[in-house]
Amino acid sequence: MKCPNCSSKDIGKIGSHQFYCWGCFIELTVNNGKMSVYQVEEDGTLSSLDDLFVEHPAVAVQLPLSS
Ligand SMILES: [Zn+2]
Repeated sequence: MKCPNCSSKDIGKIGSHQFYCWGCFIELTVNNGKMSVYQVEEDGTLSSLDDLFVEHPAVAVQLPLSS
């Protein structure tokens, strides 16, 4: 699994369907095989970055199905 934003492999799991990229500090969530990307704002809120990654639907396929 690589970060769709910075291609870092330094992805930490923070929840059953949530991951965090330590390379660019974005949160990744996976629901039904679909990846969503969020930027964590300074006040802790999440801003969706999905619009930036719609051209890369293949990233979801790389996710480990067993986790
Ligand atoms: Zn990243």
